[in-house]
Amino acid sequence: MKLDYSPAELAPRRSARRSVILASACVAVLSIVAVHESIATRSSTLQEAAGTEVAAAFNSGTEQAFDRALQSAASDTLAAPSASEWTTVVVRKGQTLSDIFDKEDLGSSDALAIVALGGDARKLQSLRTGDKLSYRKTDDDSLDELHYEFDESHTLQVRRTDNGFEALTIEAEIEHRQAATSGVITSSLFAAAQKAGLSNRLVMELADIFGYDIDFALDLRDGDHFSVVYEQLYKNGQMLRDGDIAAAEFVTQGRTYRAMRYVDGNGNATYYTPDGDSLRKAFIRTPVDFARISSGFSLGRLHPILNVIRAHKGVDYAAATGTPVHATADGKVEFAGVKNGYGNVIMLQHGSQYETVYGHLSRFRPGLRSGASVRQGQIIGYVGMTGLATAPHLHYEFRVNGMHKNPMTVGLPRANPLPRSVVAQWRSSNAQVLAQLESTSAQARVASAGGSSATTAAPGNPPPPALGSN
Ligand SMILES: [Zn+2]
Repeated sequence: MKLDYSPAELAPRRSARRSVILASACVAVLSIVAVHESIATRSSTLQEAAGTEVAAAFNSGTEQAFDRALQSAASDTLAAPSASEWTTVVVRKGQTLSDIFDKEDLGSSDALAIVALGGDARKLQSLRTGDKLSYRKTDDDSLDELHYEFDESHTLQVRRTDNGFEALTIEAEIEHRQAATSGVITSSLFAAAQKAGLSNRLVMELADIFGYDIDFALDLRDGDHFSVVYEQLYKNGQMLRDGDIAAAEFVTQGRTYRAMRYVDGNGNATYYTPDGDSLRKAFIRTPVDFARISSGFSLGRLHPILNVIRAHKGVDYAAATGTPVHATADGKVEFAGVKNGYGNVIMLQHGSQYETVYGHLSRFRPGLRSGASVRQGQIIGYVGMTGLATAPHLHYEFRVNGMHKNPMTVGLPRANPLPRSVVAQWRSSNAQVLAQLESTSAQARVASAGGSSATTAAPGNPPPPALGSN
């Protein structure tokens, strides 16, 4: 397995490590400064001075000076409260703040006073099972300070002052590091991915990205390999969890598929090939999940009710009445109503050439009417047996320029590519991602050829950090 971080891979390792440490040191220093500003009685000149020193040492660029300054800053920031004075409580099911204050002998009137501060302090009223509260007491055994990390980047800090409690929220900097790994299939995708250190969520994401081109149940062969460049989120130098896949490659049966993430102005992510072509097909193959094909496409068969030889210009999917039916592509509702043998039927228009038809429905999605837009995968109606049908099933047709095609075998067009105007900029801003995908996949090819089941870390690389459980 190989886990490495670009820019560490491309730039000298030392400078990458430095900026990471500096980032977390700055968070610590900044939080102390913030507290200092809000609580006038506390002096933090030491920490401020240390922060300046760290920055100066970093600017001057000598590593020794930097390390010295960092050590001194760390000891100063940690010196104030000794760790043993703090108690951490894990919230149990159903516990409220007053329950915890009672149990810890902190006095329930203080619990009320803290919640009455308002703002983020009110979050203490909706504690969740597993949340952690840390507190320490004053010399006369009442609450002095309470910390509550209410989400992965925010901590509420409550302190006693001469005039009651004060609260402030500290925001931790979440750092996005780039990681990469690769694997060779020897038994299953999941086994190989696990060996490569990919969390289950990322495996699912990987399968999703290439799901239009690769049937992961049928297509995989021993020696197929994949490479993934992804984000890992760090807080104060500690691995928090995996982020998203930035780029990926899958090589199966000698064919190479590549994907890179594109985020549009609204924050929606889509994966394209590095050339900007869509990985998605404009159509999904099947409009119903978990259905059995009860009658295929043919140009001549005996019709079960009319008892004459008739072409069956669609595919029948047997499924229980009420099974959801999905639009196979983005489009517009051309017709939704009753039409002779079709019974309740929906006809969708997709661009100027394509049309899909969904017959024998028991009912339509509420509010679905002619002219409405639908999205690929959206539920448009439910399986039934209206019209000429002997049992509940969906009759599905696929038409190209008015001609009936076999939905099972028709060549499906790709979804729209990334606009040409943004491809160059997108590629250049992801140059590092692509470079890392390139080097990781080179290792995967070597490992695949050598029969190894996972790429190995080069000597001198740090051991991979533990991966989040998700
Ligand atoms: Zn049919």
